[in-house]
Amino acid sequence: MNAVRTPGFTLTENASLRDRNTLRVDARAAWLAEIHDVEAIPDLLDRPPLRDRPTLLLGEGSNVLFAGDFDGVILTMKTRGVDILADDSAATRIRVAAGEHWDDFVRWTLAHGHAGLENLILIPGSVGAAPMQNIGAYGVEVGEFIESVEAYDLQRRHHSAIRNTACEFGYRDSIFKRNPDRWLITAVTLRLPREWKPRTEYSGIQEELQRTGLTRPASIHIADAVVALRTRKLPDPKVIGNAGSFFKNPLVPATQAAALRAEHPQLPTWPAPNDTSKLSAAWLIESSGFKGLREGDAGISNRHALVLVNHGHATGAQLWALAQHVREGVRERFGVELESEPRVIGA
Ligand SMILES: Cc1cc2nc3c(=O)[nH]c(=O)nc-3n(C[C@H](O)[C@H](O)[C@H](O)COP(=O)(O)OP(=O)(O)OC[C@H]3O[C@@H](n4cnc5c(N)ncnc54)[C@H](O)[C@@H]3O)c2cc1C
Repeated sequence: MNAVRTPGFTLTENASLRDRNTLRVDARAAWLAEIHDVEAIPDLLDRPPLRDRPTLLLGEGSNVLFAGDFDGVILTMKTRGVDILADDSAATRIRVAAGEHWDDFVRWTLAHGHAGLENLILIPGSVGAAPMQNIGAYGVEVGEFIESVEAYDLQRRHHSAIRNTACEFGYRDSIFKRNPDRWLITAVTLRLPREWKPRTEYSGIQEELQRTGLTRPASIHIADAVVALRTRKLPDPKVIGNAGSFFKNPLVPATQAAALRAEHPQLPTWPAPNDTSKLSAAWLIESSGFKGLREGDAGISNRHALVLVNHGHATGAQLWALAQHVREGVRERFGVELESEPRVIGA
């Protein structure tokens, strides 16, 4: 195995990805580059394996499915650091390096008295990947707090700072998601306003708080409620390989949602912009009989119908085949197309 080590990066040939994706798929990359210093990126890009092979950006692999090996160079940010840029009566502005672990960062903000990110606690993955799909949970999205994103433009080969509006954040969407592997995100600056209101619209959070008897919860209590909910509902990737919700809630024309509701009154739907409605993918999958399904070591969680799981030694191809099987079943039964949330590589 070939390896190149410099102070700014390490480059390893034929690298195993098994411990670098939470579905625990045993795939390999032709080369893997771990970046410790953003200033070293131009030098890295001039190295021979990068000059003539495709690149793929990877964080902690909690939102990817390697359906096969990757015959190119994987770039992964290993930079660390959390810096308060400003802290006044209006807001706290914090710059975080891409290689930081998102959940550690959320806990750091709460421990230092900065409220805002509590609903996003316990989401796996790196800070660098958070803007990519505008991570969201329990009624809050990270894009609400992002002031700017620092990224290295791999096409034009320069560092850039991208302001919030230019990130074009949407539901599990951003300019980065629509242009994968163009911008290597190197740091994120967040603005957490001092004025804070608990975000408890999500009924599960309300129920959790009622159980504790708190009527005026602080951010830390919301965080505790979210941790309790997530721990109960979502399988832990350390225990069983998974990538969280594998399917997005589909958006369909409002008329189609109304017709489906007329036939299936229990189908949960939510109004969405531009005369569309969001449908519950979990309900569609469960009602098609797939919850708890197992084909070899590939399965659909019996706790949550959106979660594709690896019971042990499923290959990426087997997991992808099962996901296709679920999509076809839902399409046949309800005429609705499911899209996968994680990025599928090598399908
Ligand atoms: C149990 C579980 C629960 C989850 N719950 C949620 C949830 O509630 N809400 C939610 O939104 N997501 C959730 N996810 C998905 C996942 O946690 C997020 O998408 C997370 O941001 C992925 O981070 P990562 O570092 O693992 O990225 P990876 O999986 O490594 O990569 C994800 C995408 O980001 C790109 N990327 C990674 N790093 C960079 C970078 N530095 N620059 C540019 N692009 C980059 C990759 O190319 C890829 O397209 C969950 C996942 C699991 C396993």
